[in-house]
Amino acid sequence: MILEKEKFQKEHPGIYEVWEYLEQLKVDAVLVGGAVRDLLLGASPTDFDLASSLTPEELLEIAKKKNWQANAVGSAFGVLVLTVQNESLEIATFRKEGYGSDPHRPAWVEYGASLEEDLSRRDFTINGMALTWNGELIDPFGGKKDLENKLIRTIGEPLLRFTEDPLRLLRAVRFAAKLGFVIEDQTLNEIGKSAYQIERLAQERITQEVELILLLPRASQGLDLLGISGVGRYIFGEHWPGRNQWTGLLARLLAIKVLRWAVVAWGLGKQAIRMKGLDLVTQKQAIWIAEKSEEEWQGTETLSQWSASFADKKEFEKMLEYFWQFREALGDKAVASKRAEARKLLDQLPFFRSDLAIRGDEITSIVGQGPQVAKVIAYLLKGVQQNQIKNDEKTLEEAVNFWWKEKRV
Ligand code: ATP
Ligand code: MG
Repeated sequence: MILEKEKFQKEHPGIYEVWEYLEQLKVDAVLVGGAVRDLLLGASPTDFDLASSLTPEELLEIAKKKNWQANAVGSAFGVLVLTVQNESLEIATFRKEGYGSDPHRPAWVEYGASLEEDLSRRDFTINGMALTWNGELIDPFGGKKDLENKLIRTIGEPLLRFTEDPLRLLRAVRFAAKLGFVIEDQTLNEIGKSAYQIERLAQERITQEVELILLLPRASQGLDLLGISGVGRYIFGEHWPGRNQWTGLLARLLAIKVLRWAVVAWGLGKQAIRMKGLDLVTQKQAIWIAEKSEEEWQGTETLSQWSASFADKKEFEKMLEYFWQFREALGDKAVASKRAEARKLLDQLPFFRSDLAIRGDEITSIVGQGPQVAKVIAYLLKGVQQNQIKNDEKTLEEAVNFWWKEKRV
């Protein structure tokens, strides 16, 4: 038995309460999907899914009676999200489903299915097991054996399953990378042949799944698999180089969204991450990191140039820190000393308007409002950085006056 009741009750009182109550009602409620897989692996599940033969209406009825907070998610799919004792869980009705041309939703869903039918619509054998309240494992497709052998294998014909929903191509890669598993031969073979079907998916869903892969500790394994299988080409474009040096960078960087996307921009070019579903701020920052990491570090000069496109000092310092981490991952051995140099310069010299000992209204009282304000500030910053102007109010005021009379360019 893989579920120790007492421990489970302590760790997950809300889920325990629901499951135990359904058990009292003699409803055959079982734990399904990822939680069963994770428990068998000895890992703590991140989320819990229960399934039972109760209809969505019956479930809702019970939830009301018990005062469990219930939200129907896509009620057409018969899934209810319950929040009980601050824990949420999904509870679904056993169902069969069939796919038409739209991979984003089944063409038909039928309740009144058996548990085995419900398990058979799931993607991989390791995700197609159920656990009863009494600790019995229901495993019609050999999921436990595949877990032991560390294999990702589709339930049923891979071609059919990938054609139904091509997101499973990416899910196969994600689970292989997440668990450190191998994709079983026939399944992998079919991933290669079905790769083009990725194009039937909405871009946003692809992006979301790719991001999940990028954030894994073994992201580089995932990216290599995307390359080797041919799926990557349909995501990032024709020039995918397959397994390559650059994917190894992922492992040397923290699992921070912008850093991981920066690796892709660095490895495949900035066009590769212009993806629908990836927010523009992340795109811009990732491209910044990737591009700057190629530039030579030249102290004050570099800081002066780079900081000019930032309005906020904190924001710049954050991006600079990402830059150092990226450079370190690229093998720059002098990062520690350069970082210290940058820190010192940022503390000593002004790179931002807020670093200057003159207020904005003092400047505008001399030059007025308009694009000349930014220009004079750039002039002041440069002057102080190069030791030609002193950073005190009086000198700066004189310098503004001088610029306004003599330069104005
Ligand atoms: P994770 O730990 O990443 O959440 P998970 O196995 O819980 O893994 P979910 O995406 O939460 O994955 O889905 C829950 C379960 O629903 C899966 O274990 C699988 O049985 C089933 N499932 C999810 N997506 C699909 C799909 N596209 N095709 C078939 N079955 C799916
Ligand atoms: Mg899950």
